[in-house]
Amino acid sequence: MLGTVATNAWELVLGRLDEAAELSKLDPDVHQVLRTPSRVLEVAVPVRMDDGSVEVFTGWRVRHNTARGPGKGGLRFHPDLDVDEVKALAAMMTFKTALLDLPFGGAKGGVRCDPSALSTTELERITRRYAYEVSSFLGPETDIPAPDVNTDERVMAWLMDTLSMIQSTHLPAAVTGKPPALGGTRMHAGATSTGCLATARAAFRELGITLAGSRAVIQGFGKVGGPLAFLLTSAGMRVVAISDIGGAVASKGGLDVAALADHVSETGSVAGFGGGEPINADALWDVDCELLVPAALGGVITESVAERVRAKVIVEAANGPTTVDAQPVLARRGIVAVPDILANAGGVTASYFEWAQARQGFPWDDNVVAERLRQRIESAFTAVWARAQTLGVDMRLAAHVVAIHRVAAAHDARGLFP
Ligand code: NAD
Repeated sequence: MLGTVATNAWELVLGRLDEAAELSKLDPDVHQVLRTPSRVLEVAVPVRMDDGSVEVFTGWRVRHNTARGPGKGGLRFHPDLDVDEVKALAAMMTFKTALLDLPFGGAKGGVRCDPSALSTTELERITRRYAYEVSSFLGPETDIPAPDVNTDERVMAWLMDTLSMIQSTHLPAAVTGKPPALGGTRMHAGATSTGCLATARAAFRELGITLAGSRAVIQGFGKVGGPLAFLLTSAGMRVVAISDIGGAVASKGGLDVAALADHVSETGSVAGFGGGEPINADALWDVDCELLVPAALGGVITESVAERVRAKVIVEAANGPTTVDAQPVLARRGIVAVPDILANAGGVTASYFEWAQARQGFPWDDNVVAERLRQRIESAFTAVWARAQTLGVDMRLAAHVVAIHRVAAAHDARGLFP
């Protein structure tokens, strides 16, 4: 499914940029610059497989814009990845980092591979060879990767080690989302989910509803959807349906998230969980709820799904879950969609804190990290909500307007080289 989305992903991002540029009368020169990624590197990643054969994978690192600071963005391993998807995700990082007012630009990277079919040693060899091939792009002051779909702190540790070996130096600020043993922030894993909760809470507050006692539906029970289910339950919500790639379960009284997590650790999927009713994966969209969180793939909330959704608020944990056709339907139906570049920005914000600590060589207390994360997300939400009201547009368009104007201000201040 990611592949289907990928073919349109870059056009989707350009469409959003163009719309925001027109609405806010963006300087046409800056608009032109933002329509073109600053650098696109494609590399061959030849790797010796465990059976002795050699397989050549394709990898990319795209730097979209660095007017506000070094490139920042995740590293994705996926069998359907293509350059247009990497370009789209890199541009989204430019807007996301600007929206959160982080001193970064936008970048993204990835390798087209299927990690589920690879051994740990093959995965490590792919990561290290990829890191070597794109190493001229990466560094604490130039472009800083982080985990994304199918990559984790272990992959980040291999990446950091490879970059450090190449330069014969210690480069903890070259990568974020590292294991705590290497200076990774303990908050990192849950930071995206924490940001989703903060934006859900803020949207509910604006609509005059409380989280406590309300119902949530989540698509995806991975690194974001899993911790988020716990956070929403702790906030007093009933999580009434959850799906993953293996199936979906629902319970009107609310799922026991801890028991579900145990079941997923044992079986690999929410399917077959005894504490709820099995439902068809597609029926997830019809479940009555106040909050819907797509936390799996892009392109899942299509025009027809948008007609069916029962939620009052959608918090886009996934990148690009709502199609272009679906957005007007949500708006017409009065459903507030907190856009991905705001809703899932907790992860990159925690990454910024990790990078800052690595450069200072001085770790912050966990409560300092948590408080600064909350402040950043809330202030971004407030800016977007206010702009949406002033312009009379949805939050997605408002978020893009806020973001591109911050990038434009940096371009304006810097001027054009040479
Ligand atoms: P993950 O790989 O840990 O989890 C993905 C989840 O989605 C899994 O439960 C998987 O089973 C489920 N899934 C996959 N295909 C599905 C399908 N067809 N139907 C239903 N469920 C399906 O990934 P993640 O890190 O949790 O990321 C999820 C989304 O959030 C992605 O779009 C990612 O780009 C975005 N995101 C993640 C982070 C982060 O910090 N991890 C930050 C920003 C955005």
